[in-house]
Amino acid sequence: MRLIILGPPGAGKGTQAERICGSRGIPHISTGDIFRDNIRRETPLGKQVTGILDAGGYVPDEITNQIVADRLAQDDARDGFLLDGYPRTVAQVEALDTLLAGWGHALDAVLELQVDEQELVTRLVKRAETSGRTDDTEDVIRERQRIYREETAPLVRIYSERHLVVPVDGVGELDEVSERISTALDGLPTA
Ligand code: ADP
Repeated sequence: MRLIILGPPGAGKGTQAERICGSRGIPHISTGDIFRDNIRRETPLGKQVTGILDAGGYVPDEITNQIVADRLAQDDARDGFLLDGYPRTVAQVEALDTLLAGWGHALDAVLELQVDEQELVTRLVKRAETSGRTDDTEDVIRERQRIYREETAPLVRIYSERHLVVPVDGVGELDEVSERISTALDGLPTA
């Protein structure tokens, strides 16, 4: 399966992504993880992007697209993958289209983990209290949600027009949410 996962900060996207990949036997390709790994290993790419990540900015599309193209060209991603954190811009959507079309491949679905804002704020405020992350105030949390909605709305629109968006209710126990995702993926038309 060739999948994209979208979900707001605090929705449990990382956990669900790992579970989907484990059960479907596909690689979890997170651009954030790739960048952080390169920063840790102090590679040329890491040195190039460390300032950008620190400042909370976007890595330029040319760099990000190339990283994803290289990763998707690897053997383990030939028959399926789950993209997490990519695409994030309309230009990235187009780059991914071109890449997949070149291989004669198509996306199967764009999973959209849905959690309403009030639930996320409640969750994250509680997490901030128990972990002592005092910078995670309600205002900061709401601002991150707003940015997420703003950045994902155009992507959801594009993929909705292609009937690829599969909304999944992300409120509940981790296992319940995993079960919903599984059911939704099992119900997809097979290509
Ligand atoms: P978040 O902390 O926003 O949940 P991620 O782990 O997905 O983040 O990404 C961490 C950082 O890596 C982002 O803030 C951004 O600087 C960079 N990044 C990740 N994915 C992309 C992308 N698709 N395009 C541009 N920059 C990206």
